[in-house]
Amino acid sequence: MTVLAYVGLGSNLEDPTAQLARAVAELASLPGTTLQAQSPFYASSPVGPQDQPDFVNGAVQLATDLSPHQLLDHLQAIEQAHGRERLRHWGPRTLDLDLLLYGNDIIHDKRLTVPHAELANRDFVLQPLLDLNPELALPDGRRLDSLRRQCPNNQLRLLPPRASSH
Ligand code: AMP
Repeated sequence: MTVLAYVGLGSNLEDPTAQLARAVAELASLPGTTLQAQSPFYASSPVGPQDQPDFVNGAVQLATDLSPHQLLDHLQAIEQAHGRERLRHWGPRTLDLDLLLYGNDIIHDKRLTVPHAELANRDFVLQPLLDLNPELALPDGRRLDSLRRQCPNNQLRLLPPRASSH
């Protein structure tokens, strides 16, 4: 069965925009998966420790035959291939890939929480999702546009398309 899945991308090390562009290409070539749309990229100040570079975030819409756990395996393999450093919680990272939404599934197990636990509280997650589909809602019916209006403002800065395509 083919499912619409939304993956969030983030980076604040080693040319973040290039990390994200490469990751988008890698997601597009996953088995049983089609990249349907890619959001613009946004820069924002870090959540948590402030003594680190700004983050760049974006999201993609995938149509996939992979199960959520298969998709997570691939996301983690891509993160590893980008030499992801995990020095400290909420610290700098080369590439962070999150499974934000997987159809209307609700998943709570040892490896996966879907919808992603932080989705509703992060404008740098909600805004790229809304760019992909302004009508998006969580499985419980809450609309992302109303969550976006309620969540803290991280002063997102839209990056020019040229920067997000290289
Ligand atoms: P993070 O610091 O966001 O990279 O956390 C990675 C951990 O979160 C991994 O151990 C995953 O198994 C777990 N995790 C739980 N839910 C998700 C999700 N929706 N997407 C990605 N990782 C998740």
